[in-house]
Amino acid sequence: CGIVGYIGNEQASDILLKGLHKLEYRGYDSAGIAIVDNDGVSVYKEKGRIAALEETVNGQASGTIGIGHTRWATHGAPSRDNAHPHQSISGRFTLVHNGVIENYQQLQQHYLDRVSLRSQTDTEIIVQLVEKFSEEGLNTEAAFRRTLALLKGSYALALIDNNDEETIYVGKNKSPLLVGLGEGKNVIASDAMAMLHTTKQFIEIMDEEVVIVTRDSVQVKDLEGNVRSREPFVTDIDE
Ligand code: GLU
Repeated sequence: CGIVGYIGNEQASDILLKGLHKLEYRGYDSAGIAIVDNDGVSVYKEKGRIAALEETVNGQASGTIGIGHTRWATHGAPSRDNAHPHQSISGRFTLVHNGVIENYQQLQQHYLDRVSLRSQTDTEIIVQLVEKFSEEGLNTEAAFRRTLALLKGSYALALIDNNDEETIYVGKNKSPLLVGLGEGKNVIASDAMAMLHTTKQFIEIMDEEVVIVTRDSVQVKDLEGNVRSREPFVTDIDE
């Protein structure tokens, strides 16, 4: 189980699928990717092997921004519907999540009692909360930070907003997560191994931090929105 993300100028699906293969050792029961394309965001996901996902994608996914996931089910059986990425009701927000949200039922009862969920996962609550708070008037970053402040448990998250497809929103608490830095591109990975084919320079993300990632910028903030500085490190691990 793990997440990957890519924003740059190359075909994102090739890079993400390669990254998912590198995460295979962590174990998984299903896998998926979301790619920003002319239709907004297209989601491809399958139960079972990454090879099955690759058949579904079949070279059709064209776009230079995307997120990916290998799932190890904790809430909801392994199935296509429960596989990530998950989308909000309107389809505006798309999310991948590694970890476990311990209070997802309380959050659902308190904030989402009128939303008919599409999966049995704890993860879907996160993307529906972001949509709810953005409908209430918060911008996406603020809605994302507000949602994360409510979560109890572990998460490494990557979120895409159809209304601003040039940004990937990232968050972390108690699940591993790195952001990789490149020229005109930036990447996201649960493990540096997964993205060594794109860069060797990474920044470490701390618990209860969000990162706003574009092609040319990476900004780390705490959940209140205060900017935090972070020095990159260069890994000497070989691909
Ligand atoms: N808890 C989430 C689920 O069951 C994520 C599991 C994972 O980390 O792969 O879908």
